[in-house]
Amino acid sequence: MSDGALREELELLRDIGFTHLDLDAARARVGPPTVVAPASDSTVIRESVVAPSGGQSDDAGAALAEFAKSIAECDLCRLASGRTQVVFGVGNPSARLMFIGEGPGRDEDIKGEPFVGRAGELLTDIIKAMKLRREDVYIANAVKCRPPENRNPEPDEMEACRPYLMRQIDLIQPEVIVTLGRFGLQTLFERSIAISSVRGQWMDWNGRRVMPTYHPAYLLRNPAAKKDVWSDMKKVMAELGIAV
Ligand code: SF4
Repeated sequence: MSDGALREELELLRDIGFTHLDLDAARARVGPPTVVAPASDSTVIRESVVAPSGGQSDDAGAALAEFAKSIAECDLCRLASGRTQVVFGVGNPSARLMFIGEGPGRDEDIKGEPFVGRAGELLTDIIKAMKLRREDVYIANAVKCRPPENRNPEPDEMEACRPYLMRQIDLIQPEVIVTLGRFGLQTLFERSIAISSVRGQWMDWNGRRVMPTYHPAYLLRNPAAKKDVWSDMKKVMAELGIAV
């Protein structure tokens, strides 16, 4: 990690309320610093906010896996021609909290998992700061295949892929959806909405609570906006009954 990236990471942690880092664990990993959550026992909190385990979760997991298999060869839009693989989504199949981003980037396209590059690491840190683990939530994108040169997805591509996201939401049944950036929001509401006009405000989508916030990639370019995102995530934590 470069000095600049490390500085940004530490600034986020400071902004979102962490008081110290476990440097021994960080050295052992030879990677980004390990985050130690402040305040109360995150394990206890997590048990009360993640989806139920057992039959319901197993059913949703099996249905999601089957659905992922069914769209693995999708060629409904032009993005099929440039992808390595369909990036379906990852996480708890019965998550109470779902994040929706834009589309896979290069790292995601190669790994087959959303949010695994620098922006993904930042999202993971935000999730940890919310006293959750990445595997407690569900993470997906508005389009499942990588747009060439990481360009924005086109409206017809989002429209073609939208039913897949709808089906994922239908299977997961999250109580709260956080849209990251404008394309997740646009896909849900089927219209273009300026993120700056709605960021941080609860929206209703088919009876579900939706919190629009900035995309982690935007935060990498504009670290000052991290405070806004943390403010939004505190609202989400309150909605889910997680002590801030
Ligand atoms: S982006 Fe969606 S609709 Fe387009 S090819 Fe990929 S899976 Fe199919």
